[in-house]
Amino acid sequence: MHKDVEEILFSLDQIVARCDEIGKQISKDYEGKTPVIIGLLKGCVPFMAELIKHIDCDIQIDFFDVSSYDGVNQTGNIRILKDIETDVHGRDIIICEDIVDTGLTIKRVMELLGCRGATSVEVVTLFDKKEGRTVSNIEPKYIGFDVPKKFVVGFGLDYNEVYRNLPYVGVLKRTVYEK
Ligand code: 5GP
Repeated sequence: MHKDVEEILFSLDQIVARCDEIGKQISKDYEGKTPVIIGLLKGCVPFMAELIKHIDCDIQIDFFDVSSYDGVNQTGNIRILKDIETDVHGRDIIICEDIVDTGLTIKRVMELLGCRGATSVEVVTLFDKKEGRTVSNIEPKYIGFDVPKKFVVGFGLDYNEVYRNLPYVGVLKRTVYEK
């Protein structure tokens, strides 16, 4: 275990097993369709790479890189750092996120894809921090695991761009971000 991690919450085996269950569910729900799975960089990468291996209907993938707009206004817009290349008009979209906290990012991305004419927009997230939710009516359709209101790292989740490569998810020691 990394020295900065206080406790492991989910092992690689648990995450892979859950990706298999979610992948099977998505395959069933989208049978005969070709959904576009849009990952939100960079945290989605390990999760999305694992998840898509367990989906057996046809899919396409694309990526957004978005950030909160200057962090000034909680209900403000998001800034698109990298846009998708796919024309989403008339398409079924599944947004792939590492963790949903306030729900603001997902809400804005869903609105944007709706404005661009997507037929359906759902969310798959590895983690759901429900206690952090400030936006109403944002419920991801596919959730890997619920997590407590603690700062977690690993399997794509970072602190200052570090820890994304950990093959498990754990709670970051407070001493790391309080020093
Ligand atoms: P929100 O749902 O608040 O708009 O934003 C979710 C984003 O906040 C995630 O994609 C992630 O970047 C960040 N985030 C929220 N909670 C955590 C956490 O516990 N650990 C890490 N590393 N990032 C988090």
